[in-house]
Amino acid sequence: MSGNEMKYIQEAFDTNWIAPLGTNVDKFEEEICEYVGVNHALALSSGTAGIHLALKYYGVGPGDYVFCSDLTFAGSCNPIMYQYANPVFIDSEPNTWNMSPIALEKAFEWAKSENKMPKAVIIVDLYGQSADYDQLLPICKKYGVPVIEDAAEALGATYKGKKCGTFGDISIFSFNGNKIITTSGGGMVVSNDESAINKMRFWSTQSREAARHYEHKEVGYNYRMSNICAGIGRAQLQTLDKFIDNRRYIFEQYKLKLSTLPLLSMPINEFGVPNYWLSVFTIDEGIGYTPEDIIKGLETKNIESRPLWKPMHKQKLFSDNLFFCHGEVEAIGDHLFRYGLCLPSGSSMNESQQTLIVKTIHEIIHSL
Ligand SMILES: *Cc1c(COP(=O)(O)O)cnc(C)c1O
Repeated sequence: MSGNEMKYIQEAFDTNWIAPLGTNVDKFEEEICEYVGVNHALALSSGTAGIHLALKYYGVGPGDYVFCSDLTFAGSCNPIMYQYANPVFIDSEPNTWNMSPIALEKAFEWAKSENKMPKAVIIVDLYGQSADYDQLLPICKKYGVPVIEDAAEALGATYKGKKCGTFGDISIFSFNGNKIITTSGGGMVVSNDESAINKMRFWSTQSREAARHYEHKEVGYNYRMSNICAGIGRAQLQTLDKFIDNRRYIFEQYKLKLSTLPLLSMPINEFGVPNYWLSVFTIDEGIGYTPEDIIKGLETKNIESRPLWKPMHKQKLFSDNLFFCHGEVEAIGDHLFRYGLCLPSGSSMNESQQTLIVKTIHEIIHSL
């Protein structure tokens, strides 16, 4: 938390606008629009809800196909299942760990030959770094398929000077507890397409028709953000740039202080500036130990670390779904999952905590 959160919560209490909606929600939407550089926003109960509404907006229904980044959190693709559609997973490329343009092109060639064009493509900005949109967007455009940018992890990151969240026809953010800013739980859809935002707003409030009584013609959802959560979000947004600075510092310290070990940091591309949401490293191949050994060692000191996201095509849930690979041999995402390690990266982590983590990693690796 940054300090101002209680002020906005107090305002909600003082005006007795706890729920639903209220000033904080309207202001939070406006402030996100201004920060990201987009015209319209819709505050929701989660980022997953945002992806669900975006898919519905693009008419995704039973039996349809949707392309989605493979190396991601399940929140990216679970909404495809809510619509009884088929996810098709697209591998990462080695330079950004984001969606591979080569694999995407392969998937479109398959779709074209099988007459199974997707209704949308979900592109994830992984671990706070933008995908390479100048490569990916022209491919989607060529086939006339809309893009949903899953910028859940990338609020504040940029690509060629533009903020993440401006590259999708519809884009989403998450304010879940683990993200760079949090509302305790929440999300936002942003777009320059006003009619898309209006339609999603309608669905997110139980599809109430304009009438004095409760009139319904369409299925709706209870997906809106509360005025209390939005109050937390407003204060968090004011501190976002500071959080990004802190996380960049943490990343750079790891990079510097682990540089003598067989560890490699996530590649940062010069085409953009990430928000450094997570500090992620890969251990060198054939070194004789695994990320699991380091994770276990850190655990003995009560330090939490994690593997990378397990690729979606490797999940039992999606074992029947198609997957398109970047190369010919091992999928890039599989390789990253096998060798990758996410280190503690919280914005409020202090110098001595990080020193302890670094020291512990050195000790573990020397003992292996
Ligand atoms: C967190 C996350 C989501 C889901 O957001 P929620 O607000 O938790 O529903 C979706 N995609 C990615 C890539 C995420 O990291």
